[in-house]
Amino acid sequence: MNGLKPFSPNPFFHSMMSVLHFPNLCQGSRPLRSRKQANVECGDATEASRHDGGLKQANVECGDATKASRHDGGLKIPPLDKGWENARVPSWNGADRLQRWQARHLMEVFLSEFNLLLLPGDGIGPEVMAETRRVLEWFNTHGEHQFHLEEDLVGGAAYDVHGVAITDATMEKALQADAVLFGAVGGPKWDEVPYEHRPEAGLLRLRKELQLFANLRPAICYPALADGSPLKREVVEGLDILIVRELTGGVYFGEPKEITETGNGKRAVDTQVYETYEIERIARVAFDLARKRANRVHSAEKRNVMMTGVLWHEVVSRVHEEEFPDVTLEHILADNCAMQLVRWPKQFDVIVTDNLFGDILSDAAAMLTGSLGMLPSASLGAEDDKGRRKALYEPVHGSAPDIAGKGQANPIAMIGSLGMALRYSFGMVQEAELLDRAIADVLAQGLRTADIMAEGMTLVSTRELGQAVLDALAAQARKDAGQAQEALAPKSI
Ligand code: NAD
Repeated sequence: MNGLKPFSPNPFFHSMMSVLHFPNLCQGSRPLRSRKQANVECGDATEASRHDGGLKQANVECGDATKASRHDGGLKIPPLDKGWENARVPSWNGADRLQRWQARHLMEVFLSEFNLLLLPGDGIGPEVMAETRRVLEWFNTHGEHQFHLEEDLVGGAAYDVHGVAITDATMEKALQADAVLFGAVGGPKWDEVPYEHRPEAGLLRLRKELQLFANLRPAICYPALADGSPLKREVVEGLDILIVRELTGGVYFGEPKEITETGNGKRAVDTQVYETYEIERIARVAFDLARKRANRVHSAEKRNVMMTGVLWHEVVSRVHEEEFPDVTLEHILADNCAMQLVRWPKQFDVIVTDNLFGDILSDAAAMLTGSLGMLPSASLGAEDDKGRRKALYEPVHGSAPDIAGKGQANPIAMIGSLGMALRYSFGMVQEAELLDRAIADVLAQGLRTADIMAEGMTLVSTRELGQAVLDALAAQARKDAGQAQEALAPKSI
């Protein structure tokens, strides 16, 4: 985790501070967007800069205050204020490297707009999404980026209206969006609907058509919750691991997949199948992410008994050797990995594994943190030729019909999923960290929804916890602004 960074509720001041602290954006936790180039001409100086944390390609001439900016990283160019169009950026000729670099990012920071599709779904989905939407609106009001929010139906809610778990029109919106935020689907109300229209079919279609092959599940144990874990405090306190699960291949999708009559009973077959490219691309995601973390990857498979494990081991080793030799790689058998996860989970940084093992290992890791209501996730697709990745962010939990409509749901997993979107889809690392700190603050204040309630803590509703996150965001932002102003104030001699 990076250190604290200034953040101001004043958009202009915030932008300036974002610029001043851009090194952290570029180096600390870079988003998974593509490597792009930003060319900036400032007076007679031309700089070409590799911008692999980058969101966009920007060509900016600022010598005579002519700005041409092109964003092809999934960003739209918003209308600039008249003042901006006509503004002259003073004294750029001969400006030093730092000034030119700051100017480039200042332009970029001011030019970020994102389209987000919100799919609340069923059960507690709409309740936790409502709090997440309030957080997004807070960032719209207080930050320099603008989110255009559109909401639609999915799951049982879509079935009730349209007779399908997701319509073609909604799918099209998902394909066009910069990212999708998904709540949860399902519930007993739809137990009897035809199999192909069951609520979960909406999520599966989204995963399939957005080609979301990489599922990222962080398991982070907030200090305030360390005693809520089934494991001892010293085993989980400070835990921060990331499971990268292959999501579109393996035994869940392999053919044949059938039950046949044998004459002497039945025979069931699932097929575990992986091709080289599927292993290569998930390995790259894991190594890339590790570079922004503790730089360690464990690759889990069962090469001792499975041919897919043999290929997995071979391909991951080659990708590591050829492209990521700076990252530490260890191979581990998946069963041993499960055991080590509950014995001493802090030994792990990033774990990359296949669909089946990932399903099991990530649920085991989930419980280390105390509650399903705390766990966000991200599912990412491949980069297109413009460096955009399709992405869907969702809490790990389901629709929790047992508590739906009672105001008891913990919104942190959903809000944390937005935090992942800020980090991985939009490169808004400062904002993601601010949100992380706001959540940690709320927990440190002793506020708890029922699922994480403990003796001596204060029980709050979904809405109250959401409001506490907003208050903590504002408080953290004020604190950061104060620190930044102090740092900028002239020092008396
Ligand atoms: P669940 O995750 O909905 O609930 C399991 C338990 O955890 C319940 O006791 C629930 O009250 C609690 N819980 C879950 N999220 C919580 C939160 N944010 N705050 C507080 N408590 C929370 O799993 P389930 O009960 O097995 O499934 C219920 C429905 O959800 C089923 O229809 C299932 O198919 C569906 N489901 C959907 C998804 C999804 O949309 N991605 C994932 C899992 C399950």
